[in-house]
Amino acid sequence: MSLLDIRVLGDPILRQDTTPVTEVTDELRRLMDDMFETMYAAKGIGLAAPQVGRTERIAVIDVDDNPFVVVNPEIVHAEGTIKGEEGCLSIPEVYGDVERSARVLVRALDRRGKPFEIEATELLSRCLQHEIDHLHGKLFLDYLGPFKRRSALSKWQKEKEKYPEGIRRLSAEEIARHHHSDEEL
Ligand code: ZN
Repeated sequence: MSLLDIRVLGDPILRQDTTPVTEVTDELRRLMDDMFETMYAAKGIGLAAPQVGRTERIAVIDVDDNPFVVVNPEIVHAEGTIKGEEGCLSIPEVYGDVERSARVLVRALDRRGKPFEIEATELLSRCLQHEIDHLHGKLFLDYLGPFKRRSALSKWQKEKEKYPEGIRRLSAEEIARHHHSDEEL
């Protein structure tokens, strides 16, 4: 397995739609393994393919020690609304309150290409919606009101200087330290 570089805000791949996967190959399973390794190193709970520069419709998730992969995920039912703070591995140190559906039913393929459904509430529901957004070029910043969005972007203007090539390469030091108590997706 190997650590992948994480693309940060400003990289156009984060704004592109992804391509549905037609066959889950060994190569894609290796990508999933690398995505898990990268997500754990970055202390995240979810990571979508565009965040590591890939265009396949794949995300990895691990909320409460339950790791799983979603391939071609779709929200087939959603109900209720709930507001909560979100961060993103592609927008380090920037956070904002986002209103999401409280409960979702998601249909996807697993790492073997087998269809499954998952019903989620609370953090898992939020994480699934955040990752599915990534697979369609959408970021949590898009949900913020004009004022909060502007202040998030001005924070990012300073933060992004740490990533001169638009790439977040995890260092041993970054892996060792947990810099924020909130979950990042
Ligand atoms: Zn994210």
